[in-house]
Amino acid sequence: MAGMFDAGSSMSRRVYIETVGCQMNVLDSELIAAELSRRGHELVETARKADTILFNTCSVRQHAEDKIYSALGRLKHIKRQRPGTIIGVLGCMAQKDQKLILRRAPHVDLVVGPGRLGQLGELLDRVAAGRRPWIEVSRERSSGDRLAVLASFRPYDPVRHPAARPAPHQAMVRIMSGCDRFCSYCIVPAVRGPEQSRPADRIKAEVRQLADHGCLEVTLLGQTVNSYEDTSGGRRIRLGDLLGRLHDIAGLRRLKFVTNHPRYMTAELIAAVAGLPKVSPYFHVPAQSGSNRILRRMNRGYTVERYREMLAEIGHALGDAAVTSDFIVGFPGETEEDYRQTVGLVRHGRFKNSFIFKYSPRAGTKAAELYEDDVPYKVKQQRNNKLLAIQSEISLEQNEPLIGRQVEILVEGPSKAAQKRPGHGRLVQLVGRTTCDRIVVFQGSRELTGRILSVQIEKVDAFTLFGRLP
Ligand code: SAM
Ligand code: SF4
Repeated sequence: MAGMFDAGSSMSRRVYIETVGCQMNVLDSELIAAELSRRGHELVETARKADTILFNTCSVRQHAEDKIYSALGRLKHIKRQRPGTIIGVLGCMAQKDQKLILRRAPHVDLVVGPGRLGQLGELLDRVAAGRRPWIEVSRERSSGDRLAVLASFRPYDPVRHPAARPAPHQAMVRIMSGCDRFCSYCIVPAVRGPEQSRPADRIKAEVRQLADHGCLEVTLLGQTVNSYEDTSGGRRIRLGDLLGRLHDIAGLRRLKFVTNHPRYMTAELIAAVAGLPKVSPYFHVPAQSGSNRILRRMNRGYTVERYREMLAEIGHALGDAAVTSDFIVGFPGETEEDYRQTVGLVRHGRFKNSFIFKYSPRAGTKAAELYEDDVPYKVKQQRNNKLLAIQSEISLEQNEPLIGRQVEILVEGPSKAAQKRPGHGRLVQLVGRTTCDRIVVFQGSRELTGRILSVQIEKVDAFTLFGRLP
């Protein structure tokens, strides 16, 4: 991407961006890279080649933060050897920890929260000119003044440069930022700010532009993507309506959306997905727990019975839909009986896949304030492993009927293993995805990257389908 833009800033820098966390962060990093490139900076692939090292961070679990703090610790000597190096911490941890980052890592120059990423280019210039350290964050949500808080979390949706994208045939498009659900364990509402939906016409213009540049698959992003609501044009546009509006864009072949909240999984949305052939019959809709008592403590706003009804509604409208979920094990007060009920929901749900997390207390959340983290780590670990094993069995059972069948995939490119051996033979191992987000690997030529084609499935495991070109 380096050199793609020439509208220069006076101080061109070599920037390395390291990203951890969710798809939102991956998208933010892509947008940051394009914008810094547009300002004349050069993007480099390793920290060693860089004079500006930016971490786009996550604070959903302690582990993600620990990783960043140890990476920052390792950079201390680089700063000593090359004092001109700029080190920046961006994203969720920047908003959450603010000054604490400078206390723990005084060699950090710049701290920028997710609601201030639009200013990053100017801030880098400022820091390069010696005005360090600089902290640029949004207001605390708890500070009371609702409008001032809202204004301080500025959605980061700069104009896309489709030609400068890492995967021209696939794109993520943010349709909303922030979250207003306040699940008791979750830091996201505090660090990403109030829920704000983007106007549908802007989303449509962005998707159209991406499709004009050869993008075949768009994934719409939101923390609770199915609570999307745009009333800016005097009409109420929900996610189902938005999918309808995007569906007819010429060149676009696939539309996906993540992450759904069970509360907003309406009959209208399910019907829209069933009626729009380009929309993937795939729902990532985290349940978090199978126990009503724990769901209440988590402030999730639904019961297990309602969640099961929702699964039945999806199954009824779209028999072959893939549903995936997230679960947290070891939430405060989770008994063996609560856990048993979660196991029951995993078995009943027959999810294509589930992400399973051990509860991690987050300072500033209700759960951390109200409940003791009383499930021992060892028990969390055991519950996590057992649930993973059960889910893997189910994932395998879901994949087995695909053996001998042809599935349609979008080819994403050489697998990680093949990337490590560039130019090794004419055929390489390629990776593609089905419309239901199943990963398929097969042998083919690199030129197939970005094509939608059929692959014959010969073998499966819990996570991957192995195929060949028919
Ligand atoms: N907005 C999405 C949702 O509501 O499902 C995803 C938010 S979060 C980035 C992704 C997942 O992390 C959640 O679904 C939850 O399972 C998990 N998570 C969030 N906070 C957590 C915590 N404090 N400890 C462990 N897991 C957590
Ligand atoms: Fe966090 Fe809940 Fe919002 Fe998802 S819906 S981001 S889990 S508060």
